[in-house]
Amino acid sequence: MLNFHPNVTQPSQAALERALLLLHRALGPSKVLSARESCEVYSHDDSEAEGRMPDAVVLASSAEDIATTLRIAEETAVPVTPRGGGTGRVGGAVPSAGGIVLSTLGMKQVKEIDRRELLAVVEPGLVLADLHAAVEAEGLFYPPDANSLLACAIGGNVATNARGPRAFKYGVTRNYVLGVEATLIGGRSFFAGRRTTKGVTGYDVTSLLVGSEGTLAVFGDITLRLIAKPESVMTLMALFPNIQASCRAVESIIVMGLVPRCIELLDHGTLEAVRRAGNALNAQAGAMLLMEVDGPGLEVERQAARVGELCDEAGALEVLVAQDAGQRDRLWAARREMSPAVRRMAKHKLSEDVVVPRGKIAELLLRVARTGERLQLRNVTYGHAGDGNLHVNFLWDDESEVPRVEQGIEQLFRDVVELRGTLSGEHGVGLMKAPYLHLEQSETLIELQRGLKNVFDPHQLLNPGKIFSADRSHGAC
Ligand SMILES: Cc1cc2nc3c(=O)[nH]c(=O)nc-3n(C[C@H](O)[C@H](O)[C@H](O)COP(=O)(O)OP(=O)(O)OC[C@H]3O[C@@H](n4cnc5c(N)ncnc54)[C@H](O)[C@@H]3O)c2cc1C
Repeated sequence: MLNFHPNVTQPSQAALERALLLLHRALGPSKVLSARESCEVYSHDDSEAEGRMPDAVVLASSAEDIATTLRIAEETAVPVTPRGGGTGRVGGAVPSAGGIVLSTLGMKQVKEIDRRELLAVVEPGLVLADLHAAVEAEGLFYPPDANSLLACAIGGNVATNARGPRAFKYGVTRNYVLGVEATLIGGRSFFAGRRTTKGVTGYDVTSLLVGSEGTLAVFGDITLRLIAKPESVMTLMALFPNIQASCRAVESIIVMGLVPRCIELLDHGTLEAVRRAGNALNAQAGAMLLMEVDGPGLEVERQAARVGELCDEAGALEVLVAQDAGQRDRLWAARREMSPAVRRMAKHKLSEDVVVPRGKIAELLLRVARTGERLQLRNVTYGHAGDGNLHVNFLWDDESEVPRVEQGIEQLFRDVVELRGTLSGEHGVGLMKAPYLHLEQSETLIELQRGLKNVFDPHQLLNPGKIFSADRSHGAC
């Protein structure tokens, strides 16, 4: 929900002053920002979420800095919002009550890459693209590949259980997190997880922490599972006259038992944005699939040929197979450029990331088009078709359009739940989706999760106001 302000307790002025004094004393002025102009950038992320200006920003450079900050926060009753690259799409890193922003982006070390055990230990501020480069230099592979990989950090990825195009074949961040050093509000630290691939001792606290959106603990070192780098990769682009034909192709690829590592879908409006960004595309094309297959050399060629044939059979206008690494990179650069290209189409953009069963993608897009017509709302959709994960982007220029955007969001979520999907495939709930959680989850399930939150953070000081909307009067219906 745009302009959602959860009902959270603001710290008192005296508490803030004391916290700032203690932080300065413990960490020194170079690690603590408090000037308004320095704090401003930490008051938002890559969403339309509106928070409060933080009163202090801690630039942590070690696990001790994280523990010290969380100790002082509890002692002074000042809320803390953990932050990585700030690329989140739901306001997860946006402070809803001011207080302290705890940035772990400065902690960027690759501490260990173990080729025998197939694991890496890294600090939370390591940028995803740098993690990829480091492990690939060792002939290994870390599959999760959020499209924000040049700016998002692994700590943020773990906190949001990030996923990307390759999730269709390889799964999501959670599938690669073996263990996490975590620090609780108050400063107590523990290691959850292990360094082995198997292990079932106790509750699976590691899995609970993955995707907890900075509300349970702050992550330090993260132990990641790696796999062998695929021998070869081929990229294909197929253009279709309409969405229905592209969905037919996705269905038959999967039914035939082929497992491309990604199947990305772009709708008519998105192709228009790509054209406007200077890419010449077949004028008849109303949908595009961008796909990759990987594995041993000959097997990859066989799979790519079969995928191409199935696209032809589904009615593709043309199928292009990237002939070299340069062409492949250009296709992916166009995919990654898509989000900024869409952003340039209007003053405001809100990117939802809903998921429906794959067989319902065309139905959902039809419903989105109907909602757009009814409410006179511009929208474009792209996403990870292999997972049924669609980014429906609402676009608007004028504040007077906001009530219609709100109606469009709510209608989208109701349609998704009706089609037995889920409100978020990768961005999480954060601030923006908190008012809608009850559309998908029962009161009992929400209460159970609130109970867990209370165990980790009884005074609601760690990233308050996120995931669970405290005040049901903010609910969307
Ligand atoms: C252009 C673009 C493309 C994107 N594509 C994808 C995509 O393909 N797949 C995808 O999943 N997402 C995508 N995203 C969304 C975003 O990049 C991911 O959610 C990402 O995981 C956020 O990482 P970050 O480091 O920027 O985290 P932030 O935005 O800084 O924070 C996100 C959440 O993590 C918490 N957090 C951060 N660091 C820590 C820590 N050390 N300990 C505990 N909690 C922490 C924060 O409190 C917050 O709740 C995209 C965003 C953009 C702008």
